[in-house]
Amino acid sequence: MHAPQHITIAAEPPLQAHRDAYAEQRARDFRKLRFTRKLEREFLLHMRADQRMSTLVCIVTALGIWLAFIILDLSRLNALRELFAGHRDVEFAMVLRIATLASIASLLYALLARRLPRAYHRLSMLVLMLIGSASAFIANMYKLRDLPQADLAQLVIIAAVFLPVGLTFYQSLGIALVIAILTTVLGLVMLDEVHMLEHIRLSLLLFFAVFVSAVGAYLREYAQRDQFLLRRILHNHAMSDALTGIDNRRSFEQHAAISLLQARRDRVGVVFAVLDIDHFKQYNDRYGHQAGDRALGQVAGAISSCLRRPMDMVGRIGGEEFAIVLYGVDTAQAGRMLDAIARAVADLSILHEASQTSDCLTVSVGAATFDGTETLEQLYRRADLMLYESKRNGRNRLTLC
Ligand code: GH3
Ligand code: MG
Ligand code: MG
Repeated sequence: MHAPQHITIAAEPPLQAHRDAYAEQRARDFRKLRFTRKLEREFLLHMRADQRMSTLVCIVTALGIWLAFIILDLSRLNALRELFAGHRDVEFAMVLRIATLASIASLLYALLARRLPRAYHRLSMLVLMLIGSASAFIANMYKLRDLPQADLAQLVIIAAVFLPVGLTFYQSLGIALVIAILTTVLGLVMLDEVHMLEHIRLSLLLFFAVFVSAVGAYLREYAQRDQFLLRRILHNHAMSDALTGIDNRRSFEQHAAISLLQARRDRVGVVFAVLDIDHFKQYNDRYGHQAGDRALGQVAGAISSCLRRPMDMVGRIGGEEFAIVLYGVDTAQAGRMLDAIARAVADLSILHEASQTSDCLTVSVGAATFDGTETLEQLYRRADLMLYESKRNGRNRLTLC
């Protein structure tokens, strides 16, 4: 016999205190553009999948622009002629252009083939830096030959680094700064005095472009992160029971139907149970609706705490009715687990003086073993019949078939 306790309402934690990780993160804010570890990984995967199409467009555009640059080089620098005449810098520029083109093409290949998502992002950062440095080097060559300026392309490249290509704000900022510094240093090393003042002006402009682009990118990523959290919070609201925090009927039915399909494939046993609180109407009448709500939360918690295996699940499918799926069990195992669940509820020792069954809150359970072919509705109906049997035979018991 359990020692019943009175429920002291004031001491109970509020039921709505169940807040998911997304809502907590949103409340905590993320001004540094970082979530907690688990959420951060989830966000990055989501963002990369989300930006796959825009990344693809950007890479194809980059490929086209780079090809156009090569054609421009060939005409402006008379590159082919100079190549054979042994101009080392023109040779080097061509090698750089072609290596960069190949790296952009490899990036496109990696994205299309969905290969190595980790390596892909390292590769994309490398390619962006290669684009930046190759373009800076060639721009200096143009300048030394007094050809019309090409160094303004650096500004476009800085802005392009912040396009939505699956990189985080910090990755883009890092690359943009490296490109700006590389451009500055390359100019200082390569250019003569005549071009130096203009180069310093360009370098300052580049750092300014990094700053302006970074502000835009920061605001964009902040909004993206907020959207990500909001979408998940809304999804959780749609799928979970507000009172108890466990799956609601819709979500439970979705998951349960999937687990039946999986069980059929894996040829494993599944037991479906329906659990109903005994004399709950009297409980509400006696202790009030609020205490009833609190008891429902406690019962949901007790059931959940007994379900530790990843494929087991519980949902609140009606007022004071819960459904449970036990995956990969035979009837005897399920019987022991359901007994333990009913005991865990009784061990809450929620005083129920109006109950004709016990002096504390109890549950009746009906369960049916999946026959491997039936639908969720059919299985549910059989479990419900067993629940009816438990009620008819005096409540506070389990009937299993
Ligand atoms: P039985 O032992 O036959 O199951 O009797 P019962 O009183 O539990 O069953 P009945 O279906 O007559 O009553 C269910 C009660 O559950 C009615 C309603 O007041 C209560 N209930 C349903 N949903 C909620 C809820 O969200 N909060 C509270 N506090 N009570 C609820
Ligand atoms: Mg009921
Ligand atoms: Mg009931």
